[in-house]
Amino acid sequence: MAKESANDTARGIGPVILLGPPGAGKGTQAKQIVDHYGVPQISTGDLLRDHVARGTELGLEAKSIMARGELVPDELMYGIVATRLREADCQHGFVLDGFPRTAAQAGWLDAFLEKEVFENGSENNPERCPPVVIQLLVDYTQLLLRLTGRRSCPTCGRLYNIHFQPPLVDELCDVDGSKLVIRDDDREEVISERLAAYETQTKPVADYYRVQRRLIAINADRPKEDVTAQIFGVIDRHCRAGC
Ligand code: AMP
Repeated sequence: MAKESANDTARGIGPVILLGPPGAGKGTQAKQIVDHYGVPQISTGDLLRDHVARGTELGLEAKSIMARGELVPDELMYGIVATRLREADCQHGFVLDGFPRTAAQAGWLDAFLEKEVFENGSENNPERCPPVVIQLLVDYTQLLLRLTGRRSCPTCGRLYNIHFQPPLVDELCDVDGSKLVIRDDDREEVISERLAAYETQTKPVADYYRVQRRLIAINADRPKEDVTAQIFGVIDRHCRAGC
């Protein structure tokens, strides 16, 4: 596998889309893909939080919507995603985490890749590959524990979960001793809103890819390393098949 992966890395892997509800582990698994294949992770949640932190016009508009756990309007999302995907580091592939989240976003992404990537990429380039779409399936009770237990260090960014991966000292970062924080939208009252938004708006995304036979579902209740191995297997097979 190491040899195949090295080849895959050299030629790129094309677009990878991770689908799944909040708390399914999309961010964690995206980081594994980044480390293994050397492609960037594009997390629309992170892009939006960056706009909020910088106080941009878009950030000001998105801030209250995000704090309520609702979805930011599609039209606002298209601009930030297009800008990011046009950057040079996306040329040999990228992993999308948190996008598309509506069927309209999925249709927009196909059209964007078709127009900007397929038309411009040379025939043998992996960026011409249609995205490999991986759905992380997780039990609802597990999801709640993952979300309510999620903590992060405001200083170094390290992630913890008080149920599954607690810090050595209660609520303090192992690395620098900072007091761990809960993301605004991981508060219990917001979590149910986020899961409801997922049910109504994001499930149609899975349906969109399923009818095109592009959806590969993975059991993400298994240990993190098993899930990673399954994901690498899917990506390697996709690349070997010439995308
Ligand atoms: P995440 O970090 O992916 O859970 O995203 C945090 C919040 O950012 C979500 O609850 C939404 O308010 C917003 N958001 C992230 N990605 C999208 C997207 N693709 N479409 C609409 N809103 C999004």
